[in-house]
Amino acid sequence: MRGMACQCASSPDSFEVWPDDVEAFSGRVTLHEESRGVGLYQCPSCHQWWYFDSLSRSNLAVKLPNKEAWGRVDAETHRMRIWTDQQGGIGSDTCRWRGCDNPAIRDRAFCPEHFFKRDFS
Ligand SMILES: [Zn+2]
Ligand SMILES: [Zn+2]
Repeated sequence: MRGMACQCASSPDSFEVWPDDVEAFSGRVTLHEESRGVGLYQCPSCHQWWYFDSLSRSNLAVKLPNKEAWGRVDAETHRMRIWTDQQGGIGSDTCRWRGCDNPAIRDRAFCPEHFFKRDFS
């Protein structure tokens, strides 16, 4: 679409792309490479590189400092941070996992790392 403004600068460094927004996101960027469901995209207007994983349980877009960083994205860490933000972020309590001094997620007993360990593995 002509005249569509590039939204890279105002986008967060990494975010979840909801299923309904996948087309809009991938329509604004150009696919350069793809491997195992993860694409390397570049914005045609500002040349920002993007990591975009559209095959996992949640679609993840990550801004890349350069093209080479594509293969080094730690998707799980990004997903953990995004998920924590969706829960309201980090609270003021300490994680109740034995020996852990990390702050817990707001209104939860555990820090993101231990919350994930406990519930998702
Ligand atoms: Zn852009
Ligand atoms: Zn912890």
